[in-house]
Amino acid sequence: KMMKMPMPSIDSVKVAVRVRPFSQREKNSGSKCVISMNSRTTTTIQDPKNPEHMKTFTFDLAYWSHNGFQKDKDGVLISADPSSKFAGQRDVFRDLGRGILDSAWQGYNATLLAYGQTGSGKSYSMIGFGANKGIIPNVCEELFQAIGNQERHQEYQVTFSMLEIYKEQIRDLLSRNKKPGGLKVREDQQLGFYVEGLTTVPCENYAQIERLMEQGTKIRTTASTNVNTSSSRSHMVITIQFKQVFLDRDLTKQSSINLVDLAGSERQKSSGSEGDRLKEGSRVNLSLTNLGNVISALADAAMGKKVLHIPYRDSVLTKLLQSALGGNSRTALIAAISPADICYEETLSTLRYAERAK
Ligand code: ADP
Repeated sequence: KMMKMPMPSIDSVKVAVRVRPFSQREKNSGSKCVISMNSRTTTTIQDPKNPEHMKTFTFDLAYWSHNGFQKDKDGVLISADPSSKFAGQRDVFRDLGRGILDSAWQGYNATLLAYGQTGSGKSYSMIGFGANKGIIPNVCEELFQAIGNQERHQEYQVTFSMLEIYKEQIRDLLSRNKKPGGLKVREDQQLGFYVEGLTTVPCENYAQIERLMEQGTKIRTTASTNVNTSSSRSHMVITIQFKQVFLDRDLTKQSSINLVDLAGSERQKSSGSEGDRLKEGSRVNLSLTNLGNVISALADAAMGKKVLHIPYRDSVLTKLLQSALGGNSRTALIAAISPADICYEETLSTLRYAERAK
């Protein structure tokens, strides 16, 4: 039953890889660095068991987290290449966040996804910690700044929503009432897929969004009482709807910005896990695989290849993102990785996933 879909006219998906600094645990265990980035675009990974075996990936952007070739105070190599360039939160925002804002002003949808194993720096890149604000706060802040600088022939509406997809169920992160079974995805002829009953808050300034994000993050983490926190197994989706009404013309521009902190990509270990946990793990991996299939189909279409079917309907996440992936939308993926040898397998698998998105 293959339906012929109108083929999206998109630029290819922009892919960035970002390596985080060594964690204390990695340092303590005497981990070695297996990643080098020898230009703004190439990332090389070395097999720690077979150092001759190296694989180089080329992405749109490669972000290192330290300056040049150096060892830290414990003598651990923290950067493998003198030309690798340190990238801070502002650099990442400038390269990826600005494009999203441009699209939004033009009335196009945009999606930014963070992929990687748990602890690889997805939340750091997307949300950030303390003064090191990630892409989401920076995007929101600049959106309101830009609105403030506009002349008064326009009206603006910004709404904010935040949800979590866990085991294919949707949880509203801005509401304390947990709906058993989760919120339902509905399909509308005009709107496409949407979440029924999702809290959508109109916002007038950045401070409001900051508070909502705090609330949502709190609900997300307190909900997971397990040692194996569900937050690493769930996708978090923040959606900002931006509407511009041009009063002097009969014109409205609407854009949805989707910012997605994906579930940890690590393969679920079978040892010591109950059947339920295994099922949960494989569902998480399935939805990531499905997302990969969608993005890779879009990337093929962007390159002019014939693509007959884009499997949006195969998971909740891709249903929700359908109108913001492909079509006239901008999509970017950040692949977050650890520099350490002990993460080699997962890092390689993250780089391979990101490669498919190009
Ligand atoms: P994830 O969301 O993928 O589980 P986190 O974003 O929580 O991972 O990152 C794990 C740890 O690494 C955090 O303590 C975070 O502060 C740190 N970290 C991640 N990326 C960076 C970075 N680019 N620079 C500095 N610290 C980072």
